[in-house]
Amino acid sequence: MHNRFDGKVVLITGAGSGLGQASALQIAKEGARLSLVDLNTASLEETKNKVLESVPKADVLLTTADVSDEKAVENYVNQTVQQFGAVDAFFNNAGIEGKQNLTEDFGIEEFQKVINVNLNGIFYGMKHVLKVMKKQGSGSIVNTASVGGIRGVGNQSGYAASKHGVAGLTKNSGIEYGQYGISIKAIAPGAIMTPMVEGSLKQMDPDNWEEAGKEFVKPNPMKRFGKPEEVGYLVAFLLSDQANFINATIIPIDGGQANKY
Ligand code: NAD
Repeated sequence: MHNRFDGKVVLITGAGSGLGQASALQIAKEGARLSLVDLNTASLEETKNKVLESVPKADVLLTTADVSDEKAVENYVNQTVQQFGAVDAFFNNAGIEGKQNLTEDFGIEEFQKVINVNLNGIFYGMKHVLKVMKKQGSGSIVNTASVGGIRGVGNQSGYAASKHGVAGLTKNSGIEYGQYGISIKAIAPGAIMTPMVEGSLKQMDPDNWEEAGKEFVKPNPMKRFGKPEEVGYLVAFLLSDQANFINATIIPIDGGQANKY
């Protein structure tokens, strides 16, 4: 159970914060060599320091990149292969929420920005990583969708469209690449307390966002936010060889909220 990633190369985007950082920490503890990508260089350094605090011998490559830029994506994949010689597992995770608004008021530029990062970024990542994994004849990919990728949430046109797109891409690519030994799945997190969700609550109620958070989780069957490390445990399992037969599907981690009437 402990060293599921001994000698394996794991590539993670959005690794500077939240779900990406928590997953990097968990996977490092299980022996992986890590290639960490984020737009924010300082937050990448923070993740590396946290990893080294708990696993002093960890081998960590950092690449600053914007996942919505296809050349930058090609470059972070090439950097990983140059440094480590493989990409065994890929957590394709970077994403943004965008400004909340009714559909008629949703800014065109805002819509395009969210699609560029959340959907195009995931597509570019798979496109370049799958070439490497196909040659290897093995690999696993976890894309980050959302409950907003399997249900309507409201006020999130860009986010909902992008995350439903991620769910679709996951199913499509999963059925294409299973024959090469590669499994592709997506996670659909509910509200997990990360800087992104803090920002979201501040959009709802800037002065009283912590109270807004308490209200927000009341309809959840478990009456709480998820924790980033809970997502880290799931991602580690899904990226490991133990989950190879889980393919072309979307796995919620939301306290049961997506199945509530
Ligand atoms: P977060 O804001 O804590 O972390 C996201 C990270 O992605 C940040 O470090 C940020 O710098 C990076 N990033 C943003 N845009 C980027 C870009 N263009 N290129 C490279 N890196 C970029 O958020 P989080 O909650 O950890 O979210 C991670 C993923 O999980 C996102 O795709 C998000 O949509 C999804 N998600 C989160 C929740 C939740 O409740 N936290 C729920 C459902 C889905």
